[in-house]
Amino acid sequence: MTVTIDHSIETPPRPPTPVHGFGTLAVHAGSPHDPTTGAVIEPISLSTTFEQTAVGHPVGAYEYSRSSNPNRDNFEKAVAALEHAKYALAFGSGSAATATILQSLAPGSHVISVSDVYGGTHRYFTRVAKAHGVTVTFTPQIEVDISEHIRENTKLIWIESPSNPTLRLVDIRAVASVAHSRGVQVVVDNTFLSPYLQNPLDHGADIVVHSVTKYINGHSDVVMGLAAFNSDELRERLSFLQNAGGAVPSAFDCWLAHRGVKTLHLRVRQSSLNAHEVASALSSSPHVLAVNYPGLDSHPQRAVAQKQHRGGMGGGMLSFRIRGGRAAAERFCQLTKIYTLAESLGGIESLVELPSAMTHAGIPQDQREAVGVYDDLVRMSTGIEEAADLVSDVLQALDRAVREVGEQAAAANGNGVNGHAQA
Ligand SMILES: *Cc1c(COP(=O)(O)O)cnc(C)c1O
Repeated sequence: MTVTIDHSIETPPRPPTPVHGFGTLAVHAGSPHDPTTGAVIEPISLSTTFEQTAVGHPVGAYEYSRSSNPNRDNFEKAVAALEHAKYALAFGSGSAATATILQSLAPGSHVISVSDVYGGTHRYFTRVAKAHGVTVTFTPQIEVDISEHIRENTKLIWIESPSNPTLRLVDIRAVASVAHSRGVQVVVDNTFLSPYLQNPLDHGADIVVHSVTKYINGHSDVVMGLAAFNSDELRERLSFLQNAGGAVPSAFDCWLAHRGVKTLHLRVRQSSLNAHEVASALSSSPHVLAVNYPGLDSHPQRAVAQKQHRGGMGGGMLSFRIRGGRAAAERFCQLTKIYTLAESLGGIESLVELPSAMTHAGIPQDQREAVGVYDDLVRMSTGIEEAADLVSDVLQALDRAVREVGEQAAAANGNGVNGHAQA
């Protein structure tokens, strides 16, 4: 049987498009066959400039590659379809997407953000936006006190759900309802879940941002970002800034990231299934104090996950507190054999890191601990390897790390003089 794919799905008429499922869109949206050669996979269009037949009359849709080029266009169409957005704009990094959204605000604007926002976003909010006259208020429980923080000049609310690295969730619909009643727009950084597990625009968000570097590209070999939305007015403002600021990705990176998109559903589903197994194993280990994973029934906001995430899945990210403090946490990160000690996340390979000393080292200890980032907190990005191998890797590293650190503590306490070895 021949299945005919209707290529009009590239540009959904009006989101969301219920006609095709996620996997079909991931493979086909924004992927026209080459009209001259019939190539099934789009060519990489490296040309920076495009011929004009008369002044101001380019041959096709393109003039100069910073403004737009075929690979970026196709990638943007693909992710727009997956995020149920009318438009998407690609940037040179997730940080560039964030910066461009903040730059679109008038001087004197006010932003409200969740406290445990991505470190680079926190840095932009506190050290760059201020120079443009934009101020940011941080709140640890945005659903509770959002109304109190909204001022006359509040323009934007910035949410990350799940948060990094404690995996706390925000009820996007609840925040968006209050925000919209006061004329404020809502941005959701959806990097940790990817469009496969969560579509923030469907829950009332106005803009969704991604570090494409993570799950969307998914192979740890491209740095890129993206913003997706439905408003024509936002498209005009943000694409003007995308071109004027020039923080655009290369054609080659767009092609690679688009190739990643085609397997997004398979990768994220497997990562999530694997992370669930690892989270369950951690939960029943005597060496573990607490596990943060939205896929577990013990997660304090499990109901939000059930409502907002596809199939209530927890995603590929988790964090946990190990017994034995910072020393045990550090040893654990060195002792895993499949999980590699490295920053970043969302790739096919599993990674492990120590937020207090790596990704979140810039945050003062008291502020860190106030949001649950203790010295013994380990963050893991689970990839698509075999779940059983990942579980045994984690269990052997736990055993060794806790035992070694326990033995060192006993030795340091010395020959029974002091008696009470540290637990
Ligand atoms: C990595 C990351 C970013 C920043 O993206 P870059 O591509 O590194 O600039 C923003 N938000 C989250 C949640 C991230 O993990």
